[in-house]
Amino acid sequence: MVRTVGYILRLTTKFRPTFSELTPTEELKLHNRNKFLNFMRSITLSIQDLQIAHDAIIRQEQCRHPPSLRCAKDLNIKFDVKTKLLRCFGRYERSAIEQEAINPIYLPPDSWITSLIVSETHLKVLHAGPTITLATIRQKYWIPQGKTIIRKVTIYNKQTRCYKCCRPHVKPYTAPPEPPLPSFRSNALQVFENTGLDYFGPLKTRNSSNEIMKSYGVIFDCLTYRAIKL
Ligand SMILES: [Zn+2]
Repeated sequence: MVRTVGYILRLTTKFRPTFSELTPTEELKLHNRNKFLNFMRSITLSIQDLQIAHDAIIRQEQCRHPPSLRCAKDLNIKFDVKTKLLRCFGRYERSAIEQEAINPIYLPPDSWITSLIVSETHLKVLHAGPTITLATIRQKYWIPQGKTIIRKVTIYNKQTRCYKCCRPHVKPYTAPPEPPLPSFRSNALQVFENTGLDYFGPLKTRNSSNEIMKSYGVIFDCLTYRAIKL
């Protein structure tokens, strides 16, 4: 998705002045299409382009889902002028860890971008649990109620869940309710009036001449009283 947005941003930057001058004739449309295809074939995204696209996506989601006043106060969220993103300013300014981990980007918990980032990180850490996934995410981002969101995305949400990890949480199949017994099983009748039949074997047995032979058995089961006759 970052690459797609990167292409779109490059495209809009390149074509914006040209499009405004064009009139909608077929000739110009064809010319414009060829120019577009040639440009798309020649385009190569740099790391800077990808970073700009990434920041644009996050910025849009932060605008869609702004943090509440309480959340902004608790996490000390401030506007980063350089990247134009909301970041959490904690107490690790003097730490030797990466700058992105010191001031992580605020990720709204309700955003679908957050779900995508959680799913991607979960796969990167080879299906590790919520603690390791959260620790990896916090190298760059900060999600309020992070563990709950990770559990929700990877296990409980049917659209985003990881099938490898949600397998132990799946409930076993429950048998359907049993129908009422038929009348010949629930009314008093003669023994073996209604009988079930089953066969078993072969069993190795010896006959009167002490020779080994195959034997088969029959089980008669009274359906009313559960009496058995072999
Ligand atoms: Zn998984």
